[in-house]
Amino acid sequence: MTSKHRKIPPLSASDIARFHSKYEKQNTGCWLWTGCLSPSGYGIIEIGHDNFRAPRIAYFIWYGIDPGELCVLHRCDTPSCVNPKCLFLGTDQDNRDDARAKGRWNPHLHVHVGTVPKGEDQHASKLTEQQVRKALMYFRDNPTANGPHDTLLMSCT
Ligand SMILES: [Zn+2]
Repeated sequence: MTSKHRKIPPLSASDIARFHSKYEKQNTGCWLWTGCLSPSGYGIIEIGHDNFRAPRIAYFIWYGIDPGELCVLHRCDTPSCVNPKCLFLGTDQDNRDDARAKGRWNPHLHVHVGTVPKGEDQHASKLTEQQVRKALMYFRDNPTANGPHDTLLMSCT
C-alpha cells in the first residue's frame, strides 16, 4: 500500500490543536491550509513522526473515520481546503475521474496541476504559490524524491 493510505494513529489533544491552528476560514466557505503543502497542493501535517495529508486528518477529526483505502476528495476543487463540508470519500479511480473532469489531471506527470486558488480565493493565492514553489524547489534539490507519494516524506519547517 502507498504511504498516502497510511493508517492514521490516535490523535492527541495537541495534534488536534495544531491542526486547528493551520488553516484560515475563507468567505467562500473553504478552510485553506496555511501549513506545508505538497507539490500537488494538499496540506501536510505531521502526526507522530509521519506526515499525513491534512484533508485525511480533517476527515478523521470530524467524522471519526480513517479513510483507509479511500481517497479524500474535494467538492470545492481546492486541494489545500480542509473544511469537512467540502470533503467526501472516493476511490483512486473516482479521484482520477474527478480531477480529469475538473481539468486538473496530467497523466504524463501523474500529479495534479493548477492548484492555486482562483476567483474569490485569489487573495490567499500568494502564500499558497510560495508554498508550492518551496515544495517544488525541494524536489529540484532532492532529485531522488520522485513521485507524488514521496511528497509525504517532505520535511516541513
Ligand atoms: Zn473547500
